[in-house]
Formats: sequence, C-alpha cells, structure tokens
Amino acid sequence: MPELPEVEVLAQHLRPLLRGKIIRGVTVRRAKVLAPTSPREFRRAVLGAQFAGLSRRGKYLLFQLKRRVTGERVTILGHLGMTGRMFLAGWREPLPAHAAVVFDLGGENFIYEDTRYFGRLTLDGSVVGKLGPEPLGGDFQPATFARALKRSRQAIKVKLLDQKVVAGIGNIYASEALFRARLSPKRSASRLTRRQIKRLWGAVRKVLAEAIRCGSTVPLNFGKDGLDGFFYFGRAPGTPDYYEERLRVYDREGRPCPNCRNPIRRMTQAARSTFYCPHCQNS
Ligand SMILES: [Zn+2]
Repeated sequence: MPELPEVEVLAQHLRPLLRGKIIRGVTVRRAKVLAPTSPREFRRAVLGAQFAGLSRRGKYLLFQLKRRVTGERVTILGHLGMTGRMFLAGWREPLPAHAAVVFDLGGENFIYEDTRYFGRLTLDGSVVGKLGPEPLGGDFQPATFARALKRSRQAIKVKLLDQKVVAGIGNIYASEALFRARLSPKRSASRLTRRQIKRLWGAVRKVLAEAIRCGSTVPLNFGKDGLDGFFYFGRAPGTPDYYEERLRVYDREGRPCPNCRNPIRRMTQAARSTFYCPHCQNS
C-alpha cells in the first residue's frame, strides 16, 4: 500500500504533466470512488476546469483545479487505497479493466485505476482537516510527538499508523522507523522515554526522506510497461538491486538482520504484519 513517500513521488511525477491541462471530458466508471460526491456533482465541478496545482497531505493527493471563466477553485482529493494507480496515457491506448475515473485532457487521458476498490477520488476533502502534522514539516517536533504518544497505551507500532498522531506513515515505514530507532514495536507508546521519542522522531523523518529520494530516481511509466513495483515491493523491475535494500526489515521475515545477522521476525499487531529484529529492537 502506498505511503507518504510513494504518494509524494507520484505527486512530483504528475505535477508537471498535468499542469495547465484542461478537463474536456470525464467518464466515471465506478461511482463509489467519488462518494459522498455524486457523479453528476463531480462532472459539473470539474468539466472545463484546468489543472492548476498538485500537492500532497499525508497519503492524500490534492489536485487543485481552476475554472477558466470564473477563476473559481475546486480541489479533488485522491487516495490510492491498496493498489490504485494514476497515470497519463495516449487517447488511443486501451483503458485498463479497472479504470474507475478517466479524464479526457485532449489527446491524452488521465486515468485513475483502482483494482482493489479501496481508493477514492472525491470533492469531499474533510478528512484532511483531521490529519496530524506532516512528518517532514516544521510542525512535527519531538515535543508535539511526545504529547501525542503520552496519551496512548497502544503499542508504538500501532500508534504510528494513527494518522492523527503523524500523517502519512503506514505499515512499511512504521516497521522501518522502529528498526532504525532500535525500539521494540510492542512497547507501549506512553512508556517511551523522551530520548527514545527523539530517536524515533529522527528515524521517521530519515526513512521517509530516504524513500522519497530513492523513489525519485525510479522511472514511473505506469500505463505502458507497468514499472510501478516501487510502490508495492520496494523496487521496480529492472532497477538495480540496491533499491530493495532500502527496506531493512519490512517483508524480510527469516532473512538476516542487516545489523546483527539474526533472523528478522514477523508478528501480527492490530491485524497487520510487523517486521522486526528481536535482538536489535529490545528496548
Ligand atoms: Zn538485529
């Protein structure tokens, strides 16, 4: 599932491609992704509008549109869900079977494909107001992070997935940040010391920044040859081996820990897999 770095890389990739393009038509093939916006409402808001900007908040994409005559601004909120993809393709290229929404940009289509039906593309942006700070922004500080963790008895791994504590972290980068901070994923959030919280704060920022840097060098050519492995497996097919190595514990059960060579373990927390090294992450 795409997390902050993957969404950021996608935003950086799409921003220059969409900028200035005008929506000449829109086909909604699965209305559910628009909810609570109705297809009619969606069409009316976006038809004829121009892509003016694209930003990211947590794991959400925010497409800023400008209506040409009135100058009125409209924002579309996008979420990739489990395996959603967004890409541009030539107008004559066949649409993928799971294309949920297709924007006709004149000569090319901007396609939102959602094979597993967990994504969204809607005019309802209310969820953004409930998100915690951006982990790479100035609002995310050790002191605010500590305040958010103090109130919770949940295991720190589970708490890191709470988008109100910090926005954009999912299962992959929660495991990776805890490994780099040498903290047990089972440790209760409220029992972390100030020093441990500072270490985790630094590790969160580091793993996310590294992943964005790595992803920015991977070719994203979604429609044509499916070079999007980076999004789900840490590595796109055909990219050098070292891309996989950026994930040190995630999905590496039984393989040697890069620090101590003991096997990486997997356990289930809140119905999701956690990967960790019991030897290195014992505090
Ligand atoms: Zn280890």
